[in-house]
Amino acid sequence: MKAGSDIEKIDSGFAREVASASGADLFACYQCEKCTNGCPVTFAMDYGPHQIIRMLQLGLSEELAHANTPWVCASCETCFTRCPQQIEIPELMDHLKHRVLRQGEKPVEGVIAAFHEAFLDNIRRFGRINETVLITAFQLRSAKAGKGFDAKEAFRNLKLGLGMLKRGRLAFVPKKTGGKEAVRNLFEKKD
Ligand code: SF4
Ligand code: SF4
Repeated sequence: MKAGSDIEKIDSGFAREVASASGADLFACYQCEKCTNGCPVTFAMDYGPHQIIRMLQLGLSEELAHANTPWVCASCETCFTRCPQQIEIPELMDHLKHRVLRQGEKPVEGVIAAFHEAFLDNIRRFGRINETVLITAFQLRSAKAGKGFDAKEAFRNLKLGLGMLKRGRLAFVPKKTGGKEAVRNLFEKKD
């Protein structure tokens, strides 16, 4: 967070907590909308990034817990690059996603959340992506998330996976990485 922030002046415990945990200086935002105008996925979002910041400033925690925006965010960093105040919106979106998961609430975008969790679990276990395990874990988690088991999609993925295996683009046995412990430690540090 930048020095001289007005954060202490705002009477919103929720906003203060999110700002401090995510490192995003929420109260430096003056609603210019440059973030939202550059975001490539606003068409699929309930609220644009600038609206999410405003909702945070106002302490609308309930509405934020049910917004799909953090789940739809692709972490492309366009908003951060365009923001005149250098507000770290991608980190903010990540924080909001983890907050929902930590509180045991059901994510509004169950399938995206299933991928998010399968992806992070994969990195935590192997220190790098193992696509074969990731695809299988995602298939199982998304079925559990309410989508149900889609036999057609599973068959399509299996066919695709076999083709990739044949071309050496997938590995059954995870490749070893020297930084496995370091990666695990990063997960331990994450709030
Ligand atoms: S670009 Fe930055 S200052 Fe402008 S609305 Fe977005 S977050 Fe706020
Ligand atoms: S990081 Fe997320 S919110 Fe920001 S521009 Fe990319 S998709 Fe949009």
